[in-house]
Amino acid sequence: MGDLSSLRIWREPDLEGRMPWYRAVADNHRPAKFRIARYVPVAVALDAPEEALWRELEAKTPVFLDLWRRIRKREADLPAARKPTPNLVDLCRELAYRMLAHCNFCRYDCQVDRTQGAKFGTCKLAHESRVSTYFHHLGEELVYRGRMGSGTIFFTSCNMRCAFCQNGDISTDKDNGRAVSPRTLATMAWLLRVEGCHNVNWVGGEVTIHLHTIVDAIALLDELRPTEEDLAAALPAKADYYLRFGVDAEGTYYRGAFNAPMLWNSNFFMSAPAMKILRILMDVWLPDFKFGPGRCAPLLSKTPFYWETVTENLRLVHEWGEEFTIRHLVMPNHVECCTAPVLKWVAENMPDAPVNIMDQYHPDNFCDPGNPKFNSKYQDLTRRITRDELRQAFRYGRELGIRFESLSCEKNSTGLRV
Ligand code: SF4
Repeated sequence: MGDLSSLRIWREPDLEGRMPWYRAVADNHRPAKFRIARYVPVAVALDAPEEALWRELEAKTPVFLDLWRRIRKREADLPAARKPTPNLVDLCRELAYRMLAHCNFCRYDCQVDRTQGAKFGTCKLAHESRVSTYFHHLGEELVYRGRMGSGTIFFTSCNMRCAFCQNGDISTDKDNGRAVSPRTLATMAWLLRVEGCHNVNWVGGEVTIHLHTIVDAIALLDELRPTEEDLAAALPAKADYYLRFGVDAEGTYYRGAFNAPMLWNSNFFMSAPAMKILRILMDVWLPDFKFGPGRCAPLLSKTPFYWETVTENLRLVHEWGEEFTIRHLVMPNHVECCTAPVLKWVAENMPDAPVNIMDQYHPDNFCDPGNPKFNSKYQDLTRRITRDELRQAFRYGRELGIRFESLSCEKNSTGLRV
């Protein structure tokens, strides 16, 4: 398994000493949060009313945080005692399924019963989760791809409707890919990790809309020993040849069981209840922060409440002391209305947050004149960004003191010199 902490990028001024928890789990020196949460007992029957389950989550979150803090500071390790049943991971899993029956995974709060699939919410999904593909992603930021890649699992469909979506084949086609059971999904995560990936990168489309399947898969991981049947179910969606990387299962285990940082790679349009579950299970977060507070989110992605939802969720992960990096995609003709206020907000609210100011926008989906779906109302998004636009975005970043240079400049996809 690659040694993520030895990368030179961690010695650059923006990132020096940053994200110690993520690196410790990636390098297998500490157990992931979901492994720790297994040792927090819950004192409620899992068939209790949902309100009682939420009260128990509120009550046991500080207990979990205290154990996590001691393990982080190396004052403790996973307890030697047997894992209690039920425990905090079981509770998170149960809550995710209760939410599915009146879906409030994201800010749309559709309240449809996705277990039945008779009515659909904005994401148009019932209970089934589909994976488009999964592989060692060598295009993510260096802090995630490292030497062996980020173990990226792509889910289909989305709750936002970005006209320019750079992953439109996945996000706009909910039937893309293959239906996965939680066990198959856990096997995919297991495979990526035992082949050396530095993290399990849950991404879409959008991941929030698959919260129940992901939490269920995570709940299986620490006991998982995939069978031939599990591998046969998981391998067809894999985009890279798994024997190419070799498999070292035991070498990636921590105290005899699966261990990897869980990475939440999301548009951050989650609901407050979803955030409470993710706080227990995610080791590192990768939020997108696309639009300014004006009309761009509703006009370009048909998403109301965008600014208040995403800034509130960012504020939460920052207040909670979680480790994260922010992505902002610079869009043509949107530097003043989107890039400037996004960077200003970060500077005013979390000036220490690392940001990737991304230059790789290309016209796609409804903004691509060569696509049959093209809509001329998106005319101002039909080109790549100019050198001047990128220069202006970076200038704002520098003037505001944003920590962006290490993440943004280690690879420049457009080749623009600024
Ligand atoms: S995930 Fe979001 S968009 Fe989909 S049904 Fe639930 S609340 Fe609605």
